Amino acid sequence: MRASPVVISGNNGAIIRNVAFASSGRALEIAVSAGKIAEIREVDAPVEWVCLPPLVDKHVHANRAFTLAGVKPDSFEHAIALTMELFSSFDAGQYALHARKLFQRAFSHGTTGIRTHADLDGVTRFAAVQGTLGAAAGMAAKMSIEVVAFATERLDPSAANGKSLIAEALARGANFIGATPALHANPRRSIDAVIELAIEQDAGLDLHQDEHLRPERASVDYLADAVIRNGLQGKLTLSHGCALSMLEPPARNKIIDKLLRAQIEVVALPLTNLYLQDRGSGTPRQRGLTCVHEMLDAGLEVRFASDNVRDAFYPYGDADLLDTAYAGMLAAQLDSSAALVRSICDGRLELSAGEPASLVLMRGTDFDQILSRRPSERIVIRNGSPVEIHA
Ligand SMILES: [Zn+2]
Repeated sequence: MRASPVVISGNNGAIIRNVAFASSGRALEIAVSAGKIAEIREVDAPVEWVCLPPLVDKHVHANRAFTLAGVKPDSFEHAIALTMELFSSFDAGQYALHARKLFQRAFSHGTTGIRTHADLDGVTRFAAVQGTLGAAAGMAAKMSIEVVAFATERLDPSAANGKSLIAEALARGANFIGATPALHANPRRSIDAVIELAIEQDAGLDLHQDEHLRPERASVDYLADAVIRNGLQGKLTLSHGCALSMLEPPARNKIIDKLLRAQIEVVALPLTNLYLQDRGSGTPRQRGLTCVHEMLDAGLEVRFASDNVRDAFYPYGDADLLDTAYAGMLAAQLDSSAALVRSICDGRLELSAGEPASLVLMRGTDFDQILSRRPSERIVIRNGSPVEIHA
């Protein structure tokens, strides 16, 4: 049994030893007092643990997780059809069961922040939102969970009941407006509807935007214009953006510049995109991932998130953000440790004195080793106290 790097002292304090940030590799001691970081000092000692800011999985579908019913999808469209069929008979209790399992698996890997898209349409009604909110409440002592009211392909936000169902889901406790404009007859009209609703409700937006590889159908340019025109800068998260990768560089760069002006945060979903995009005719020729390098170079905030776990959209995975970062590294050929850490720590790379002592320690000497081994030895510390994660 190896010694813990966390030595608890009296007076609500602790010292965390033999650690390094992913950015520098220098050995550190972190002194904790009253739940906050009191001091970080360089020391002459071996590095045995890498210290990361709290892990945040910025895009999952908790109420769908672990629902795979044996049939794997032939295509993105097939995955939608399988999911819609399955959910025709789900109630709030079943959604809660699956959401809870996803939250627990993510937490067991050290994740303490999650944003989940809860299904919302005329068939599910509010069952998935209610089930997800209930499961989230049960994990509140361990994790911070945001719930997106996600209008599925069965609920066009521009339809008669679109805005009213989303507004009601927000009233019941959902935090964000979600939708998937590319799956509706007129994507621009769907975007207009969610923008109007975001203004009316003063709520943030997180859209499944252009999760396909047909550039002629992409509406991301229209979306960025609408955000700027309506003064919603900083209020939108763009998830997926696969079609951007199919544009010629001049057109792509013009859109990325607009995304920057609209202060749009991008969430890339490497596992589901690699699995589903360009699927169905043998070995895929396209990666399906959005333009991660070009977005980072332009100064956009880019995250990697897990998306689907053991469901019809991605039949594998276990909501481990190190697996997701590994897939992102490989799919995007992104070698920057700093960019990878930021992608799974909600933009953060290090911690500093005065902040809450909330962090995760992973057994290893540097981030490349951690990404390679994806070690099971992990310690979560929240507000200065170690939390048992292997329940
Ligand atoms: Zn998604």
